[in-house]
Amino acid sequence: MKTDLKAAPKVPARKKDAAAIPAAWDYAAAPESKDIVKIADHYGLFIGGKFVEPLSKQRYTTIDPATEEPLSEIAQAGKADVAKAVRSARDAYTSRWSKLRPSERAKYLYRIARILQERSREFAVLESRNGGKPIRESRDVDLPLAAAHFFYYAGWADKLEYAFPNRTPKPIGVAGQIIPWNFPLLMLAWKIAPALAAGNTVVLKPAETTPLTALLFCDVLRQAELPPGVVNIITGDGRTGAELVSSPDVNKIAFTGSTEVGKAIQRAVAGTGKRLTLELGGKAANIVFDDAPLDQAVEGIVNGIYFNQGHVCCAGSRLFVQESIYDAIISKLKRRMRTLRVGDPLDKNTDVGAINSKAQLEKIAGLVQSGIDEGAEIYQPPCKLPERGYWFVPTVFTNVAQSYRIAQEEIFGPVLSVLTFRTPDEAVEKANNTPYGLSAGVWTEKGSRILSMAQRLKAGVVWANTYNRFDPASPFGGYKESGFGREGGLHGLEPYLAFDEG
Ligand code: NDP
Repeated sequence: MKTDLKAAPKVPARKKDAAAIPAAWDYAAAPESKDIVKIADHYGLFIGGKFVEPLSKQRYTTIDPATEEPLSEIAQAGKADVAKAVRSARDAYTSRWSKLRPSERAKYLYRIARILQERSREFAVLESRNGGKPIRESRDVDLPLAAAHFFYYAGWADKLEYAFPNRTPKPIGVAGQIIPWNFPLLMLAWKIAPALAAGNTVVLKPAETTPLTALLFCDVLRQAELPPGVVNIITGDGRTGAELVSSPDVNKIAFTGSTEVGKAIQRAVAGTGKRLTLELGGKAANIVFDDAPLDQAVEGIVNGIYFNQGHVCCAGSRLFVQESIYDAIISKLKRRMRTLRVGDPLDKNTDVGAINSKAQLEKIAGLVQSGIDEGAEIYQPPCKLPERGYWFVPTVFTNVAQSYRIAQEEIFGPVLSVLTFRTPDEAVEKANNTPYGLSAGVWTEKGSRILSMAQRLKAGVVWANTYNRFDPASPFGGYKESGFGREGGLHGLEPYLAFDEG
């Protein structure tokens, strides 16, 4: 059959697509609203169940580290303020809290936990604004864990006799608690929940740069109708902390922060009869064996060091890779780092937020420079940082020797040092070659290797095929210069109790 070409239907010319072909799959901004939380112009000290003006008459400004915008004026508690707070805690202890039935104490803790859950969005936004951490982390990690700690210890409050059989547990009195800026509300929960469950009262000092969620927590205490004076929150810098440590009527000091300040506190407390627990710095080894699932391990490495901008005492800041998989791990790691989004902490897409303070940014930059000067090889993915605020590009160093400062000192920033090993013995030896001993990670398919590594690593917590996982039932704490005493679990109650043994 002949085909009449002329009669053949014309194929219409293809229309040009009006929408440009995307060159990159960028995320649209997804900012969380700031309006959910009201920040007051200024705050007093929370003593005896109400906000009072500081006797010191001194204040300082707290800021948003992502924008450097001032957020509020905060009271700087002086010696007389600290004494007033401790008196209030002592009165509440003797007149009411220590006499309350344990099941009644538990009710207050349950109430606090539930209110924290109800108001979690408000707290998450405030935590991210004052501290710089991504909203995804404050919303999904800090807040659920803070509430979980209150729930968990509420459960123990009326079961202490069963928790410590034949030991007759009793409260010890007034606890002075000093916390850092990396997990402000979560550290508050770690400290306050076991102290109250055990029947003690509290004076807590949040970190100078991140007081706002602790101050909002005072509102939760009022909502829960906690008796006045059971929890007192005093703001201020290290001088306020030092006053609290030296206060004669405090029975126990619980501190989380730097090893340097921890040592100073230990010296101040020596010979006073005060109880002491210290949760200090770390330089954790994250160890990847050649039989590990590599993609999963890379996720764990990234979570281990870039979570919360690396402002994590148990951060996996030293990566040990078995030599045979070194090239594969490094290339996968660099590729994954190029997908990390650094920027606005309130954007739900953000992976890495702002550095907590200018001082911390300078410390990180100084240590990174030392790594370059000592001969390590630096890699930073291409990354556009906001113009204002404190930021640091996620960084990895290869070609690192164990003696370099970046392999020895706690950087407390998004900076990873990579070292290699050949045998499990070598991995253990190198991993333990640090003055710290807070945590470690092991990545391998072999269960027996996990168990043997966990026994030989001098670290309070060893994660296997995961990293940075927390649960209120699980004790946490360090060896060597990472401190002593445990928080979380039954172990976390013990430092807040006295026992009539036998
Ligand atoms: P600090 O140890 O100084 O701060 C922790 C807490 O202790 C804060 O509330 C602080 O108040 C208070 N404090 C400071 N000096 C004293 C004192 N003499 N007596 C009693 N309390 C005191 O840590 P920084 O915030 O100065 O951070 C410095 C370095 O410490 C970081 O770069 C990081 O390496 C490390 N760090 C480790 C943490 C960890 O969990 N392992 C947590 C925080 C920091 P203020 O906020 O006013 O200083």
